[in-house]
Amino acid sequence: MAGATHPGEAKRLNEKDRLVLAALKKCSKPVSAYDLIDDLKGHGVKAPPTVYRALGKLIEMGLAHKLESLNAFVACAHGQSCAHSQEAVAFAVCEKCGSVEEFESKELTRTLKAWVAKKKFALHKSTLELRGICCACADA
Ligand SMILES: [Zn+2]
Ligand SMILES: [Zn+2]
Repeated sequence: MAGATHPGEAKRLNEKDRLVLAALKKCSKPVSAYDLIDDLKGHGVKAPPTVYRALGKLIEMGLAHKLESLNAFVACAHGQSCAHSQEAVAFAVCEKCGSVEEFESKELTRTLKAWVAKKKFALHKSTLELRGICCACADA
């Protein structure tokens, strides 16, 4: 996990947003909004809408991602470079240990963009999720 701070992060995130991001970053696995709300209770973030709002903002800024199939959230593995709104991101989710590995691919992006253009599909977002067993679990 990258610990670097996004250049624009400090300015655009309020205190609550930063708390939510920090809570996400210390999780090595995807967490549900409920888990986050639970986790943040002790930090003065009590209202669930605050957490949802912060998550929405973080996702919009490319600092976090939502895994649709798990209905869970992860901090972006790239921390600062995320121009993800333009790039296709994929996640490999281990069904055994729950670990998630994020990767992006220029080729994947190119392929998806070409398809979207050809079909005149109005793309809002794309999250690619690969489900399987990670190599650590496969070896165990
Ligand atoms: Zn990312
Ligand atoms: Zn695993």
